Amino acid sequence: MKRIALFPGSFDPFTKGHEDIVIRGLKLFDEIIVAIGYNSSKSRRYFEVELMVKKISETFEKYPNIKVLTFSELTAEFAKKHEANYLLRGLRNTTDFEYENSISQVNRHLNPELESVFLITSPQFAAISSSIIREVHRYDGDVSAFLPYRL
Ligand code: ADP
Repeated sequence: MKRIALFPGSFDPFTKGHEDIVIRGLKLFDEIIVAIGYNSSKSRRYFEVELMVKKISETFEKYPNIKVLTFSELTAEFAKKHEANYLLRGLRNTTDFEYENSISQVNRHLNPELESVFLITSPQFAAISSSIIREVHRYDGDVSAFLPYRL
């Protein structure tokens, strides 16, 4: 059976840290679906969903086994629909761990078939966060070093 993983996130914006998790995830999975969640509690985005779909697709254009989709429903349901049995997530620090621990327990409850798999950030990307990039960009700072594509 094909191992399909869903890599869900807000990706507002998608960063080099996210790219690293996806590329490393390919060692574990046959196919990875990068899924941009919107319309949840973080519904007011800074970067448009359509722009991110375009930029993430560009980033992985050489990888036929990486897909980019959007969703606005329960992650566990979306995974089931796309026959993804794994949720891929990245961990930078204990704050990520606390959050990821809670959501993975809920996701397991909602879809017992779904296993969450966590990759520890590569050290060179550990400090990259979408929220800091948004702040820098808002005040016209250069964020190109943190993104795997040109804005
Ligand atoms: P969410 O809003 O669901 O937390 P994000 O877009 O912020 O979505 O992040 C998606 C996933 O990527 C999360 O598991 C997050 O911990 C992880 N992540 C974010 N930045 C990095 C990074 N620099 N290195 C590794 N993982 C990261």
